[in-house]
Amino acid sequence: MGPFYCPADRQVHLETSFFQELDQRFGAPGDFARAYVVAHEVGHHIQTLTGVSERVSAAQQGVSKAQANALSVRQELQADCNSRVWGHYAACRGLVETNDVEEGLRAAAAIGDDRLQRESQGRVSHESFTHGSSAQRVE
Ligand SMILES: [Zn+2]
Repeated sequence: MGPFYCPADRQVHLETSFFQELDQRFGAPGDFARAYVVAHEVGHHIQTLTGVSERVSAAQQGVSKAQANALSVRQELQADCNSRVWGHYAACRGLVETNDVEEGLRAAAAIGDDRLQRESQGRVSHESFTHGSSAQRVE
């Protein structure tokens, strides 16, 4: 299982083997790529604290699966945005090295729903996206 944020215990759960997979299977090595993934999960914690997660869950009730997935994509892209806010402040503190931004963007592209679906199913179904396309995650 990949990394995830659990709102019930308000903890980020990290399976360290995912980072090897990020490096070897997805071609996104580097400390900043890993930091982007962790920051994304912390971004979900922010969504819990600000009530975004609760509002998205409520909005997903009684709508079609495709509509619920579209709301999930927006929530996931906001978590990506939150991770970039962290990246900005890390840069302000002089913690970001020359190739770090490329590492983070490579990781974002590697875990887009279109790429993951193409690799696992051989086809892409946009209405089943829950995290956004590679291009959306990079943007
Ligand atoms: Zn997420």
